[in-house]
Amino acid sequence: MQPENTIPRPGHAYTPRRRTLLKVAGLAGIGTATAAASTARAAAGTKADAAFDVIVIGAGFAGVTAARELQAAGRKTLLLEARDRIGGRTWTTTFQGQMVEMGGTWVDAKQPLIQAEIKRHGVRILEDPAPEKVIFRNSGQFRAFTPEEAFGRQGELFERLVAGSKDAFPQPEQPFLRADLVAELDKLTLRDRLQQMRLTAEEEDWITPVTAVEGGAARGGLADLCQTHALCGYSYMGYLGLNTYRPEGGMTPLLKRMLDSSGAQLKLASPVRSVCDNGSKVTVTTRAGQSYSAAAVVVAIPVNVWKSIQFTPSLPAAHVTATQETMSVTSGQKFMMNVQGDVGRFVAQPPEGHPLLTAVPWAQTTNGLLMAGFSADATLDTGNVAQVQAAVQSLVPEARVTAVKAARWGQEPFSQGAWSWMQQGQMTKLLRAVQQPHGRISFATSDIATGWSGFVEGAIERGIEAAAQASLSVTR
Ligand SMILES: Cc1cc2nc3c(=O)[nH]c(=O)nc-3n(C[C@H](O)[C@H](O)[C@H](O)COP(=O)(O)OP(=O)(O)OC[C@H]3O[C@@H](n4cnc5c(N)ncnc54)[C@H](O)[C@@H]3O)c2cc1C
Repeated sequence: MQPENTIPRPGHAYTPRRRTLLKVAGLAGIGTATAAASTARAAAGTKADAAFDVIVIGAGFAGVTAARELQAAGRKTLLLEARDRIGGRTWTTTFQGQMVEMGGTWVDAKQPLIQAEIKRHGVRILEDPAPEKVIFRNSGQFRAFTPEEAFGRQGELFERLVAGSKDAFPQPEQPFLRADLVAELDKLTLRDRLQQMRLTAEEEDWITPVTAVEGGAARGGLADLCQTHALCGYSYMGYLGLNTYRPEGGMTPLLKRMLDSSGAQLKLASPVRSVCDNGSKVTVTTRAGQSYSAAAVVVAIPVNVWKSIQFTPSLPAAHVTATQETMSVTSGQKFMMNVQGDVGRFVAQPPEGHPLLTAVPWAQTTNGLLMAGFSADATLDTGNVAQVQAAVQSLVPEARVTAVKAARWGQEPFSQGAWSWMQQGQMTKLLRAVQQPHGRISFATSDIATGWSGFVEGAIERGIEAAAQASLSVTR
């Protein structure tokens, strides 16, 4: 545990980009305290005859950020959330008397926007202790290795997997500076690249724990992993370190602080059924039949869920393709489990085809070792102790799983998927198009972030940008 938030404040390219964006949008004060908000609102004026300037749909990190930025710029904002909680794919809860995270958990020093929120709200950062051993499959057997040996072997293969990332992403937060090279990478799935590497069966076992996270090598796009590698300082160790630091108290309490400081009005348990833009205002109707209108709307729900809302006029072709193809891993699950037995603080990284993606220690309790498990196998019921125990025992025979708590994100109607990883071709063909507003409707979700797509950092980036887009709509 760190006594202070010791993560250094990173100097990152987002700051100037954000300033430029806000200047264009005439929102120089956005993101600052709300003191000048009412003055700004009066000055800006709104065209639509509506109780709210902007309606934000979805109270995950993207939606709450958008609402906070809009309120700070003087835009009266309503936040409609389908669930009876905020947070979306972050969800801090309890299990076995311990605070646990069922969704997004770790933050990193290379992610300046979430670091800024952590600092702004005075939250400390905790560092997870390193594992004592790592379980990999080697010569057909699951065995324990030292972290140095295991990650050393995987790291060599990882660097070959993402070969070309430095040339294609010279400035990782601006992925289209070398659009020509990115397009070449984006023609390949991870499986295509693995085939180019001509790996032995043993090498496959060492590297496919990485590709499994993208929903499998056949699903995952190579360009997305290359950009993530670039964002991690072109470093496997940087990539590996992404799951090390987390905000004390959890992600949802941090988000709640962001929301509380915003002044935005929140309505929980308000799933939106339709969004209708008549050219001068947008009407949002919930499944319960309640209608609200505003000059602009920010749709801050996952891409996979866009198809469950009726849009008038219909969504543009790129948005339709994205939601039909899906951008987040539909089979992704996370679960917490209590493990007993003489197992030590282990991390497991089985190869593709195993029901588990990984298992990592969370907390030692008097009752056993609390671990976080991940799976992208839709046939595994991570809420079922016997099924989870069988999967874990195939890796560590002495482990006894006594309790589980699961979040099967793909089965949740308001997520329809877990973490996002772009598929082959999506970065080049869809990303820029789905970031564009559709009339008075803007889109905010981590799934479509320019940098750190699939991370909380990306959700905040999109919330900021969609707020600027919506604010422009308000003045039109
Ligand atoms: C298991 C798991 C582990 C992860 N680990 C990490 C990690 O360690 N670090 C990291 O940075 N990221 C991680 N991520 C990714 C990160 O959690 C997400 O990228 C981020 O939280 C997405 O935020 P968002 O606001 O874009 O979407 P969401 O969080 O999905 O928010 C969308 C909101 O919209 C609401 N909604 C949906 N439909 C409607 C509707 N019709 N009407 C009204 N509201 C609606 C939802 O209920 C939800 O609250 C993880 C994700 C998962 C699932």
